[in-house]
Amino acid sequence: MVKYVCGVCGWVYDGDTPFEELGDDFTCPMCGAPKSAFDEVVV
Ligand SMILES: [Zn+2]
Repeated sequence: MVKYVCGVCGWVYDGDTPFEELGDDFTCPMCGAPKSAFDEVVV
């Protein structure tokens, strides 16, 4: 399973919408980092 983790603050995306389907204007709710700052982590 793949999770997406904010590379700035470590917040983990855990929404119902697949991360890749989120709009490019998605930002981290914790620190406001852009979608491009997220890292794909296999867990
Ligand atoms: Zn963040």
